[in-house]
Amino acid sequence: MLTLYRTEGIILRVRPFGEADRILTILTRTEGVIEAVARGARRPRSRLVGATLPFTQIQAMIFRGKSLDNLSQAEIVNTFSAIREDLLRTAYGTYWCELAYEFMGQRDPNEEVYLFFLASLLMLDSTDDPGLLSIYFELRFLAQLGYRPALDCCCGCGKSMAEGGAGSFLTSSGGLLCSSCTQSNASGEVLSAAAVGFMRMLLVWDLRKLNVLKLPDTARLEVKNGIRRFAAEQSGKPLKSLD
Ligand SMILES: [Zn+2]
Repeated sequence: MLTLYRTEGIILRVRPFGEADRILTILTRTEGVIEAVARGARRPRSRLVGATLPFTQIQAMIFRGKSLDNLSQAEIVNTFSAIREDLLRTAYGTYWCELAYEFMGQRDPNEEVYLFFLASLLMLDSTDDPGLLSIYFELRFLAQLGYRPALDCCCGCGKSMAEGGAGSFLTSSGGLLCSSCTQSNASGEVLSAAAVGFMRMLLVWDLRKLNVLKLPDTARLEVKNGIRRFAAEQSGKPLKSLD
């Protein structure tokens, strides 16, 4: 028997299928990440054509299938057109979508993560600094899924790092090495004291107050590179979207 369910979701990925269909990867509020076919969605007059584009937030009626669900109806809640019309915002948004389908299991619902993803897209639609927002998103999104950098003490000697200081961020484990352990182990991403402090601050900072955060470009670059390599290493394969 076919089961129909109603949920809210964000389109993460769209692939052409057959002659006129689309296969969608959707981050849903109640079912986690799902794959669904949208029949006829590439026909210009299809009622699904506009609702099956990347980043679009929809209210949907979906038939549950064995591996692939079937999108029956979709109503657009938000098109996030400012993201789609800007190359840089599109690049960040596409990377976030890639992180979501690489790191979140299928049919493993997590409403908190869904709401964080949605709030971040709303911010990406309007922020003046999408680069800073993306660093924040990447760090916090991974942290919420259990990939949280451990910055409180050195993972080599156990020394407290709470007082600050430079270190090496280990992309294999998310741990931090103090400067003396760094000298005997050159495998990490070296972070200045400012970058370690910035990363620590981002882990507790409120998304809505991101626009007041100021920091030197060098520290920002270090954290950006560290978190991107961390994501690639933890996913076990190179991530494509920001190349
Ligand atoms: Zn140490």
